[in-house]
Amino acid sequence: MTKNGLEIIEELESCVRSYVRAFPTVFTKARGYKMWDEDGKEYIDFFSGAGALNYGHNEPNMKKKLVEYILDDGITHSLDMASSAKAEFLEKFNEVILKPRDLDYKVMFPGPTGTNTVESALKLARKVTGRTEIISFTNGFHGMTIGSLSVTGNSMKRSGAGIPLHNTVTMPYDNFVSDELDTLEYLERFLEDNGSGVSIPAAIILETVQGEGGINAARFEWIKKVDEICKRWGILLIIDDVQAGVGRTGTFFSFEPAGIKPDIVCLSKSIGGYGLPLALTLISPELDQWKPGEHNGTFRGNNHAFVTATEALTYWEDPTFEKSIQDKSATITKFLENMIEKYPEMKGHLKGRGFMQGISSDVEGFSEKVAEEAFNRCLIMETAGGHDQVFKLFPPINIDEAGLEKGFELIEESIKEAIK
Ligand code: PMP
Repeated sequence: MTKNGLEIIEELESCVRSYVRAFPTVFTKARGYKMWDEDGKEYIDFFSGAGALNYGHNEPNMKKKLVEYILDDGITHSLDMASSAKAEFLEKFNEVILKPRDLDYKVMFPGPTGTNTVESALKLARKVTGRTEIISFTNGFHGMTIGSLSVTGNSMKRSGAGIPLHNTVTMPYDNFVSDELDTLEYLERFLEDNGSGVSIPAAIILETVQGEGGINAARFEWIKKVDEICKRWGILLIIDDVQAGVGRTGTFFSFEPAGIKPDIVCLSKSIGGYGLPLALTLISPELDQWKPGEHNGTFRGNNHAFVTATEALTYWEDPTFEKSIQDKSATITKFLENMIEKYPEMKGHLKGRGFMQGISSDVEGFSEKVAEEAFNRCLIMETAGGHDQVFKLFPPINIDEAGLEKGFELIEESIKEAIK
């Protein structure tokens, strides 16, 4: 007798680590914001591959371009060689994204994933400044390799390395201590007093909205002030837009409303558009100081991902696209505010901005219970934060109103069930 998918996964559990514990089924198909499992059950996806599927599953225009490219024997792997797919992507990225925002960056392909772009940013900052330390923030998440983990503010994740991770200083993120205490003043005192042993760091790295750390959104004034401190002290500012970028917060780059131009920007997840691995490190031209060979890698830039990434940029040619994300974000905010008011038992607080919002509950285990109940109702949703205290609404940014409303209905039912 043939085993079903779940039985196979259970058998593999001894050697496979996966999300199956949180989402215990076997998915076979997906389109837009919908997924189907092997029993044909339909799910609504409010997870979007943790931000890798901002345009939903199997976006039809990207699929068409990719299939045509493959059928035409387009180059798959080309390492550092020039390819037409790479050239087309770079041209469109420059025309559609950088130029209209008056951003002047060189684009680097650091490796296939988010952690690769962070590693390249940290490495380049040290090389260019000749300094060692990096300042990062409480609850920040930047990746799982040694460098990116060393700037990740999560003790459980850090313990995975089994050793202390050096050359980083963790500062309180905006509002981490309280709304009143300006911890950036504190940071400046440190920098001024560097004669007593505090080193000027090479860089400050931050997420404008912390994705994994609990959808903590920094205020724009705070981000601006970090930028000013960086400029005053010749420290490089790295914005990790791996999760918050590519429209997730309502603009292409999450830092746009703060009016800053970071020295280095890390992009991955949805930049490939179709869920294919692609990472970009954007660097200010004067930082382009690596000699050929000082940063290389076999899978830097995947041509299939270039094809879908180029097509994805078509969304950004439409002047109404950003506004549509922002309008739907306001609908999400309204829904969450209503839930917090209507169900005071969950002791909820609104978190995040744009398509990166959620509710943090002061009731232990509540948010996990909501996510579990949501899955029982065929809605896929994750929790975030050091204690999984936040349930996180992460639908594709091109979801329609009907999809949002359906998701809201299921979330409200899940909240009701979790309160019982
Ligand atoms: N930076 C941020 C802000 C992230 O959210 C993540 C992934 N969750 C990473 C870096 C690492 O990306 P990857 O898992 O692709 O290495």
